[in-house]
Amino acid sequence: MNTMVKGLTYTEQGTTAWNNYLKQLDKVAPHLGELSERLDMLRRPKRSLIVDIPVIMDDGTVQHFEGYRVQHNLTRGPGKGGVRFHPDVNLDEVMALSAWMTIKCAALNLPFGGAKGGVRVDPTQLSKRELERLTRRYTAEINFIIGPQKDIPAPDVGTNPQIMAWMMDTFSMNSGSTVTGVVTGKPVHLGGSLGRIKATGRGVYITGREVAQQIDLDLNDARVCVQGFGNVGSEAALLFHENGSKVICVQDHSATLYQEQGIDIAKLIEYSKHHQKIQGFSAKDEILAAKFWQIPAEVFIPAALEGVIDVHVAQTIQAKIILEGANGPTLTEADEILSKRQITVVPDVICNAGGVTVSYFEWVQDLASYFWTEEEINQRMDVIMKNAVADVWIKATQAECSLRTAAYILACERILMARKERGIYPG
Ligand code: GLU
Repeated sequence: MNTMVKGLTYTEQGTTAWNNYLKQLDKVAPHLGELSERLDMLRRPKRSLIVDIPVIMDDGTVQHFEGYRVQHNLTRGPGKGGVRFHPDVNLDEVMALSAWMTIKCAALNLPFGGAKGGVRVDPTQLSKRELERLTRRYTAEINFIIGPQKDIPAPDVGTNPQIMAWMMDTFSMNSGSTVTGVVTGKPVHLGGSLGRIKATGRGVYITGREVAQQIDLDLNDARVCVQGFGNVGSEAALLFHENGSKVICVQDHSATLYQEQGIDIAKLIEYSKHHQKIQGFSAKDEILAAKFWQIPAEVFIPAALEGVIDVHVAQTIQAKIILEGANGPTLTEADEILSKRQITVVPDVICNAGGVTVSYFEWVQDLASYFWTEEEINQRMDVIMKNAVADVWIKATQAECSLRTAAYILACERILMARKERGIYPG
């Protein structure tokens, strides 16, 4: 069945990322009072750019890749959001990811709008030179809509500080001066911030710690399962491990590793850095991937890609808390089931916001040309994340809704109030 949402169509049963976002937004409308009339603004991106990226490959042939930059909403400040290099990237996904950035930045009260970019490519199949040429051409193609006061890209799945350095250099070459504030997540020598790499995983741990307190769950010896062992999953796993929880299962693209007594996460990180996968770390403890969601554990951390928690997983998972390290891991129908089963879902827009929070610090440091210590950064992030969880918890209690809907209410109120005050150009 198709439902018309004032100009935008989505399928009730549709499971695309953008569909999922629209359904999440629908849940907020009844809580917004007169502001709900303005919600349509968030049902479409402000600006979507699709670019062709021709790349001269090492063998002399030319290959074309499709790239995107979507600025979903710029009401509260410049666009902010990562760039994803992945073979499944498409416009629908980038639109959803940009919208989640709008909500995330507003929920954390950071002075940014939401944006996201991506290129449909498998970066592991390119040489370093090819990856650099692809990154530089992509940056040149989106050059006219990014900038420290316009839209500030950052790393996401498949991108890293080196790629940010190439983006910053390409933008600077085209501007005629060194512009550090055009991207965040840069290497520290280039105006990057201390603590940025670990920030997202750290935020996942902080929000987990805060929510566990709210529901009286003792994290000591609590069993934790982590899906995804990249930047986010590995750091979150390490912090849970170091603070007394037992990380009993880790899954990545290569294997699902289960150790009832708890995995030595520091060793697994060493191993996976070296081999680019967890497979082979302890072959006798590898289990079938499909078993992952059936493991009895208190905490689950989806920290890979979107859409992994569907209705079936929601009906079977035995968890007290789900920490959304990934963007959009839970489908709306699944969310309702988890809610009924009283499983606390800490939504992506709060849970993984540690990354963009330290990106905000990086941007501020670049604009001021004055840099902070790692302790200052971690301490300031801790305060922002802690307050965000507390605000969302109070809102969810008052409005009798899920933490996700509560975060959306806080975010939408801020964005729609700002729009109301700004008015609509040309008036
Ligand atoms: N890609 C990250 C996210 O989804 C970080 C974005 C940023 O730092 O701007 O939140």
